[in-house]
Amino acid sequence: VKEMKDKAIILTSGGMDSATLLYYVIDKGYDAYAVSFDYGQRHKIELTKAKKICKKLNVPHIILDMSVLNKVAPSALTRKNIKVPEGHYADDNMKITVVPNRNMCMLSIAASYAMSIGAKKLFFGSHNGDAAIYFDCRPKFVAALNKAIGLADWRKVKLETPFINMSKAGICKLGLKLNVPYKLTHSCYKGGKVPCGRCATCVERTEAFVANHAIDPAYGTPKKWERAVEYMQEVTRK
Ligand SMILES: [Zn+2]
Repeated sequence: VKEMKDKAIILTSGGMDSATLLYYVIDKGYDAYAVSFDYGQRHKIELTKAKKICKKLNVPHIILDMSVLNKVAPSALTRKNIKVPEGHYADDNMKITVVPNRNMCMLSIAASYAMSIGAKKLFFGSHNGDAAIYFDCRPKFVAALNKAIGLADWRKVKLETPFINMSKAGICKLGLKLNVPYKLTHSCYKGGKVPCGRCATCVERTEAFVANHAIDPAYGTPKKWERAVEYMQEVTRK
């Protein structure tokens, strides 16, 4: 008898965490459905990457318009006139990259989608490095939202965050094992074709690959990668 797989929704940004999550969820045997959000992010290129990854995996993918968020909650991620800060996430100036309450908005809509298509689980790829300035990536927030989503109707959709206690390096390690095509992922906040290597998400990503003795294929050339590694080492020493 052919067994029906459980459906799962995966919040898919086009970045390395959610791409790894997508591979992880499929590896666990779920019937995956990917959801991405357009909230006016300047790194809109990530949505094209998300589409490519889903196509490669033959996973149904929808991109939802959440431009309303940009109207009420400006951030360096959404406004061209606010400069994306360079350096490490630990630096004070990184708070400007927070889109207030972004994850609750996205997860809330994704939960509606899960309820309507009969998906039992909603996966979200936040990890322990996100917790520093992004409150809506923390275990406490996830636990509270999980409870609220479970109470929203009779279907009791469950919010799953398997990476919440993992580091970015740990996610990278898992992804390399699962053969995630990291070349097809985009993380850089500045949104250029090649990562800038200097914004906080680039620095964090470089750290993760270096910790795994791997090269980030997103840079294309060894020289650009070397420059990113040098910058990461420079800001980490501080
Ligand atoms: Zn960058």
